[in-house]
Amino acid sequence: MAAQTMEQLVSLSKRRGFIFPGSAIYGGLQGTYDYGPLGVELKNNLKLAWWRANVWEREDMEGIDASILMNKLTWRYSGHEETFVDPMVDCKGCKMRWRADQIAGKCPSCGSAELTEPRPFNLMFKTQVGPVPDPESFSYLRPETAQGIFLNFKHVLDSTSRKLPFGIAQMGKSFRNEITPRNFIFRVREFEQMEIEFFVKPGEDEAWHQKWVEDRINWWLSVGLSKDNLVPYHQKANELAHYAKATVDLLYRFPHGLEELEGIANRTDYDLGSHSKDQGSLGLKARVAPNSHSTEKLTYFDAETKQHVVPFVIEPSAGVDRGVLAVLSEAYAEEQVKPAPADRLKPVEEALGTFLKSVSRNEKLTADAKNALLAEGERIEGALGERLASITGLLSMPGAEGIEVAKKLRGQVDPVVDEFYRTVLHFKPRLAPIKVAVLPLKKNHPGIVDVAKGIRRRLQSSGSMRVVYDDTGAIGKLYRRQDEIGTPFCVTVDFDTLGDGKDASTKDTVTVRHRDSMAQERVAISELEGYLREKMG
Ligand code: ATP
Repeated sequence: MAAQTMEQLVSLSKRRGFIFPGSAIYGGLQGTYDYGPLGVELKNNLKLAWWRANVWEREDMEGIDASILMNKLTWRYSGHEETFVDPMVDCKGCKMRWRADQIAGKCPSCGSAELTEPRPFNLMFKTQVGPVPDPESFSYLRPETAQGIFLNFKHVLDSTSRKLPFGIAQMGKSFRNEITPRNFIFRVREFEQMEIEFFVKPGEDEAWHQKWVEDRINWWLSVGLSKDNLVPYHQKANELAHYAKATVDLLYRFPHGLEELEGIANRTDYDLGSHSKDQGSLGLKARVAPNSHSTEKLTYFDAETKQHVVPFVIEPSAGVDRGVLAVLSEAYAEEQVKPAPADRLKPVEEALGTFLKSVSRNEKLTADAKNALLAEGERIEGALGERLASITGLLSMPGAEGIEVAKKLRGQVDPVVDEFYRTVLHFKPRLAPIKVAVLPLKKNHPGIVDVAKGIRRRLQSSGSMRVVYDDTGAIGKLYRRQDEIGTPFCVTVDFDTLGDGKDASTKDTVTVRHRDSMAQERVAISELEGYLREKMG
């Protein structure tokens, strides 16, 4: 299981409506993606699972939703104006700009080693606030949600009477002017974060840090990531951000490599200290820049010791989009439903060979599109029997449609895929964009259609699941289409349901077909909702 290449995910996402490139009809805007009809459901389900586990189900957490725009002083005292910079180099040959730490001294675009000296580049998007273009009336789009939590620390404390330890959770958009956005939704310029700032008594921070690392790993496992693909990485002293005493990154094995999904940092009293007035009186452990603007001391009054303390902060900070990518990648599988005989594979193999030859000869394709098509094509050729279903994805990659033999390949591959293969997303049911698809065995039979539509309406109005009605093909094809988007259950209404079958006892029952096992069961309509709800977990 799990995707082998990013192309498999990019192509499925576009084909079925999970994720589209942003502003495509105007040539796109690098580093932006739009979530489609299925993507928005998946993303919302992931966010809801996070909110439930971290806010509703805990007794030590509150939630907030702060503004994206904040007073620009926030970013001065948080350290972002001065330190939120990446060293960047320009290629003297092709003029492309790169992050110095991500290229090994060579321009990835043209290969030239003629690069400028690294220069700092601030990743925050600057924006004007108000109608007058006065040089002082600007702010930044927030590059992280965390600062909204620190600035509201007192508000939440005063309005909820919380005692330490407690946390504040927030989800929302963040913006970073990444120099080289890439790898689909892994590194983008506009993304969402799910962040927690957990406030603890100084001295209790290390134990809480450890506990949060365990909690967060368990949560990612609970939404379907496998242990083998999730690797905690303890940052070394020279890798730590200036505010952090210790940081554990949770790395995930994405199709492009093992990379950060979430960071869990012990930020000491740096943040609350930085945003406080009268810092000299607070006994801060962290070194902070003097603050001459804040109107508050961000402290906590400890009723036992009768002292004001600045809490230490543990910050589990995860990216929603990277989470979606991880969940999608983990769930992805191409499976052979039954072995395809050699005489059915042969014509596909030949058509694929012709297609790839035509791609390599084509002069209209960009170098990137050509390389991507050839790499994916050769990967499939390497084990055609196993990977044949990937050809559907290959044919929807950029540039594929324009190849004149693409139609012929599609004509060869589609019937073989339909009969012997399926692409399936093995989502945990609670993450699946659509929980149940209700399918009529015959789309023109008024009795069957009536019952099927009635079932859809009733299940949908139960409020606990997204249910769709689908009559756009024959049953086998509809099952495959639902597998491909990860729908855990299909409910089929047939003649037996109406009592018109051979066995009278099947009246008022439907077939429930399971995505993962492909097993089918007969369930009474009256018990359907309870049955599905229980299986949904
Ligand atoms: P990286 O080193 O990959 O740039 P980071 O260490 O700067 O990431 P943090 O500042 O710790 O990231 O942000 C917390 C989380 O926000 C990251 O673990 C990641 O999931 C997400 N995130 C950060 N930058 C981006 C981005 N450009 N696109 C998508 N998600 C991001």
